[in-house]
This record gives sequence, C-alpha cells and structure tokens, in this order.
Amino acid sequence: MSEKPLLLTPGPLSTSKNVKHSMLNDWGSRDPAFTVLTKNVRNNLLKISKAPESYTCVPFQGSGTYGIEAAFSTFTSPSSKVLVLTNGAYGKRACTILALLRRPYIELEFKENEAVDPIIVENFISKNSDLSHVFMVHCETTTGILNPLISISNLVKSANLVFIVDAMSSFGGIPIDFSFTNIDVLISSSNKCLEGVPGIFFVLAQKSLIKKSIGNSQSLSLDISSQWSEFETSGQWRFTPPTHVVAALNEALNELDKEGGVAGRFARYQDNCNILVNGMRKLGFRTLLHDNIQAPIIVTFYDDFKPNYSFKNFYSDLQKHGFTIYPGKLTNNMTFRVGCIGNIQRKDMHMFVSTVEKITK
Ligand SMILES: *Cc1c(COP(=O)(O)O)cnc(C)c1O
Repeated sequence: MSEKPLLLTPGPLSTSKNVKHSMLNDWGSRDPAFTVLTKNVRNNLLKISKAPESYTCVPFQGSGTYGIEAAFSTFTSPSSKVLVLTNGAYGKRACTILALLRRPYIELEFKENEAVDPIIVENFISKNSDLSHVFMVHCETTTGILNPLISISNLVKSANLVFIVDAMSSFGGIPIDFSFTNIDVLISSSNKCLEGVPGIFFVLAQKSLIKKSIGNSQSLSLDISSQWSEFETSGQWRFTPPTHVVAALNEALNELDKEGGVAGRFARYQDNCNILVNGMRKLGFRTLLHDNIQAPIIVTFYDDFKPNYSFKNFYSDLQKHGFTIYPGKLTNNMTFRVGCIGNIQRKDMHMFVSTVEKITK
C-alpha cells in the first residue's frame, strides 16, 4: 500500500521510501564524499538527456522559477530580444521575469487549449529579424498540454537563435533527446518527473554559451556562469548546498535507471494517464484537452459537478480518502487538475477513480 496522502498534483510529488530514506544522513558540504555525490548527479542528468560532450549540467539551490530567472539573467543581455511562446501561466511567468530583468522580449500567445503552432512561429520569426532567443514551455502544466519540442527546436536552429526550454514538468518523464533536439538551454527541477524532493533546479546548457555569458547576470546567487565555474574548478557549490536534497536526487536518479530510464517512466505515466482519463470519462467528466495534445503529466477536467457540490467539497472529500488533487489554473473555465506523475502506480489510479465514483454518486 502506498503512503497517504498520495499527491496527484504537478509537484512536489509522492516520493518513494528509498528517496525519503536517503535523506537520513548529514553531509558536510565541503566533504569529498559530497563532491562525488554532486558530480554523480550532474553526470546522470546529462546522461538521461543524451547530451553531447559540449553540454554541461549546473545545479542550483531553489525551485523551478528561480531557474527560469537564472537562465534569462545569465543567457540574455540588454541587447537581446526574446520571443516567448505562451499558452498558459508558466509562459506568462517567463514574460514577467523578463520584464523585471529589463530584458527585451515579445510574446506570441496561443490559446490555453491549443499547442504552440510551428507554422505560426516560423512565420513570426521570419518577420522579426531582431530576435535573439526563443523560449518555450515543453509541457504547459497549466493545462497539461504538450508543445511540439522537436519541430520548434528545428526552426529555432535554422533561424540561428538561442533556444531556451522550460522542461520543468516533463524532464525525466517524457523522453527529450539532445542528440537530435536542438536545445541550447533546458531548465528543470528535482521534484517533478525525477521524483526527488523539492529544493534543486538545474540547467543543461552548451558550455560555449555559458562561457560567452560571463558578466551578463544581474544576480550574484543566480549566475549560471559563476556557479558552473565553481563546479569546474573545485567541484563544489558556491553557497550552502541543499545536501539532503542532493542525496535524495541521487537516489531518485538510481530509481529512474532501475525503472528503465525515461522510456520506462514515460510508459508508467502514460498508463496512469490512460486509467485516469478513461475512468473519469466513464463517470461523466470531460477533459479540457484533446487526447492528441495531452501530455501524460497532469489532466485538466471540467468542473461538472452536481448543483450542490463544489470543488471545495470534492477536494476535502478526496483528501479524507488520502488523495491530494489540484485546483484549475485557467482564466476562462472552471476546472480542476489531477496529476499522473510521481511515485504513483496503476493500482493508485484505479483506487482514485473508484474513490471519485464513491464520493460523487
Ligand atoms: C512547476 C513548474 C515551474 C516552476 O515552478 P516552481 O513552483 O518554482 O517550482 C515552471 N514551469 C513549469 C512548466 C512548471 O510545471
């Protein structure tokens, strides 16, 4: 039996016993054993993305949003212009960060229930010759939509622009292969599909781009170039590392490997998602997205309850049964969200659907 409550959310997520157990040690942040642990984690993150030698992994203290801020601060300058492709809250948040950093950007907005369209993007890029970077969210967790990473990466490459990808809610759960996807910078965190605990974000980036970006960052603590050069010279974190979180991420990466890598994990998430969607549809719930753009990460359902029932009741009834779900985040529609990721097995998904049936009957 899994531990309660099960987190059916976009993160942080349910983690395994082993991952929790790996945090029972105290590590000296300057101790050689911890330096080895950090190196291991960095190498494993590069390995699962099949990144060529020209890439490096730079982990940091903080949540995912800190990573987006670090990437824009480090890899753009006042003379850049970033094209931000948006179809949800996380794309919008990127615009907010760029505005605060005073880095020029332009937003190309798509509907919340439609994927980014490569033809429109290509057309837009060809008409805007002052662009330097393109930013896209891979899985827009606002809805659970999967944006077309490979085709966008190809057209960004052929326009000779720098491609920055928010893969927060997809990395480790949906295969991303750097050997044929032209990503210059990818940002993700420890506590989503990697099934570690919260506290680390990391950046996978071209070493040459990191070197070229020295001096860009307006922030001391979020400067990717400085963090990278400390890892390269001493192997250590610049400031107090989240030691237990690193240990947990190391164990989480071992478990990912045992599950058959990203492909194995993707298969489990897809299975979880199918059980959830099919089960909920049988109970009369409708999904926001068409199946062909739905990522097996988190599913948005319309809030079609009986007249005297509300999300608040639904949430607390589920909580009593050991399930934590998530409210919707849409601007127009009443929705709620259920995650398929984390240390969640098919039996948990079946249990969730039958619990929903029981409490909404
Ligand atoms: C979770 C998430 C983030 C970062 O959120 P934090 O709360 O800062 O960890 C950014 N982008 C996407 C797509 C996400 O799912």
